Amino acid sequence: MHKVFSSFRARRAFLAATVCLLLIPGMLWVTHAGAAQKYVEHDRTYPQPPVITPATCSTQDNAGNPPSDAIVLFNGHDLSNWESLKGGPADWTVGDGYFATKPGAGDIRTKQAFGDMQLHVEWATPNPPHGEDQDRGNSGVFLMGLYEIQVLDSYHSVTYPDGQASAVYGQYPPQVNACRAPGEWQTYDIIFHGPRFSDEGTLIRRAHVTVIQNGVLTQDDVAIMGPTGHHIRPQYTPTPDKLPLALQDHNHPVRYRNLWVREIPERPM
Ligand code: MG
Repeated sequence: MHKVFSSFRARRAFLAATVCLLLIPGMLWVTHAGAAQKYVEHDRTYPQPPVITPATCSTQDNAGNPPSDAIVLFNGHDLSNWESLKGGPADWTVGDGYFATKPGAGDIRTKQAFGDMQLHVEWATPNPPHGEDQDRGNSGVFLMGLYEIQVLDSYHSVTYPDGQASAVYGQYPPQVNACRAPGEWQTYDIIFHGPRFSDEGTLIRRAHVTVIQNGVLTQDDVAIMGPTGHHIRPQYTPTPDKLPLALQDHNHPVRYRNLWVREIPERPM
């Protein structure tokens, strides 16, 4: 050993190697793993998740309750959190614990803008049913006002698959038809991540959506192709990260209740 370190060059090489061995793993750990992985397994310094009161399940007779940290979009009495797409107050029908589309009144949207979110919606199509195909209990949940998750009476009623209930309209048919009968309350639990654009307006992440209808997975994190439309697939154009949520008036009195949102914090690209 004495001979090895006898020269200045050898001592300098040994020192440089030691520094590299100590620093490089640390640098890789920080830059590669990211801040979220700075905690070791079972690290008790990891921040504790907030404690909330979870939602209670809805039944046909009971709309249930939102979780304690949700943004409630309908309080059961009025549409104060909504406005008409045409401008002015939301002119839809409000009943006992629900509201319904008023044919001809036009779409409504939330006053608050939302992007990445968990969304809960309950809806019921008219009973007795009326019409067929797309002309049967048609409405829709427009995420960011642009991406429609179809609301339709698809119970023993056939239409084009990417236009039935739970479809990403015109893009993705649902995995299964999990519809309940007309007049029965149905649930959508939607996990949505909006698109992202570069500062120059280039699309760098498509919107993604997962839909659970009546407790059944119908859309599994599908990549939305762009704004939804009828016989058209528009390209993405740059949008803010958050836009109002809209509900469609398709000339059928579809009922809604127990709508709430939990915003999802930004996640790494
Ligand atoms: Mg629709």
